[in-house]
Amino acid sequence: MRIGQGYDAHRLVPGRPLVLGGVTVPSEKGLLGHSDADVLTHAVIDALLGAACLGDLGALFPDHDPRFGNISSLTLLREAVQLVKDNGFTVINIDATVVAQRPALAPYREEMQRNLAACLGAGAVSVKFTTEEGMGFSGSGEGMAATAVCLIGSL
Ligand code: MG
Repeated sequence: MRIGQGYDAHRLVPGRPLVLGGVTVPSEKGLLGHSDADVLTHAVIDALLGAACLGDLGALFPDHDPRFGNISSLTLLREAVQLVKDNGFTVINIDATVVAQRPALAPYREEMQRNLAACLGAGAVSVKFTTEEGMGFSGSGEGMAATAVCLIGSL
């Protein structure tokens, strides 16, 4: 078995949809990025790639590549999962945390978990939410961050 961890952060700006775990959450601001900037899914992808020693999201899906412009990060996750499988591993579980001051995200937890689990082919997917009590870039609403750990096992 192998473990991996991932971290990502994106800036919040007006005029962008807020996409987390493939769910578009109603919000006056959204995350800025080349893809849909789904910070949760990006952290999950980096955790997977880390566990399998396959580099990172930026190396696999460069943000200067027009193929990935505004792409759904769930599509990138499916590709990363396939790569992990091609290297002889299966995903056992994922545990992720989104760090965001607002909006309230708990009502969307189950849908995010379902979306991620469908891509991962793993039932044990946990998504958690926390704030940083008004401190730092997440507290001020300048951005959001996410962390994830995953366990993979040899097929
Ligand atoms: Mg990212």
